[in-house]
Amino acid sequence: MTTEIIAKTLLSSAKQPDKWSGIKYTMNLYRGCQHQCIYCDSRSECYQIADFAEIQVKVNALDRLSDEIRRKKVKGTIGTGSMNDPYMPIEAERRLTRGALQIISAAKFPVHIITKSDLVTRDADILQEISRVYVAVSFTITSADDALSKKLEPGAPVSSRRFAALKSLSENGITAGLTMMPILPFIEDSDENIRALVGMAAEAGASYILPGFGLTLRDRQREYFYARLERLFPGLREQYQRRYGERYSAESPRAARLGQIFKEECARLGIATKMPFYQPESEQLTLF
Ligand code: SF4
Repeated sequence: MTTEIIAKTLLSSAKQPDKWSGIKYTMNLYRGCQHQCIYCDSRSECYQIADFAEIQVKVNALDRLSDEIRRKKVKGTIGTGSMNDPYMPIEAERRLTRGALQIISAAKFPVHIITKSDLVTRDADILQEISRVYVAVSFTITSADDALSKKLEPGAPVSSRRFAALKSLSENGITAGLTMMPILPFIEDSDENIRALVGMAAEAGASYILPGFGLTLRDRQREYFYARLERLFPGLREQYQRRYGERYSAESPRAARLGQIFKEECARLGIATKMPFYQPESEQLTLF
């Protein structure tokens, strides 16, 4: 189901840029997400989205963005894709993300996109323009196996389509990498999966990979995730409950070993384990 809403504000600012991506402003053009990943944190009660399957379209988003971006005194990276996917299927028709990128490009702001969709390649032309300032596209890919990615992220394009999109952007000179998180305990935390993901990322031309060997779990999100585990992976719900109980952090018991394999494989294949940040012009000049 889709409804239309009016947004009061569009860009929210962080006091300090995010330490792993350098994001200063966050932007959400929709509420709810069609990708319906079984582990999605946006189902948590703190975000106050009663029905996560209902997509709310912020119909005034582009007007708000034009107005707010003009008033920003500090140029900083605009991040999108943490609360919903900016390239979920509805974007093909509503084109809010494309419109927002045009505004961002005209205002010469930097942007970081997180997505699980190959629809992002539609906007390669604008992303190339923004890349004169700064752009990074992070594809979230956590399984090298398409059938498994379909189980875990039923509404999103499968992993191989995401890798193909990454390759296409990278061949067009757009900085792209992987957010390899959350690697789900007892499902995706094998040596083989991590080695395969890093290898496929290298083949696709990824500049960086940001890993996360585990997930966070709370209230409504945990309930939904456990219900899906019960249906999709018999016996795993009990295994999670025994190991993590009501804990927020559910790290893979194999995290240390996987971290080691990850670092070795990235070093061998020449992939960074941190992403490049936007550097304001004044700071760039001080480097010379
Ligand atoms: S794509 Fe991201 S926001 Fe959308 S359901 Fe999946 S994890 Fe949640």
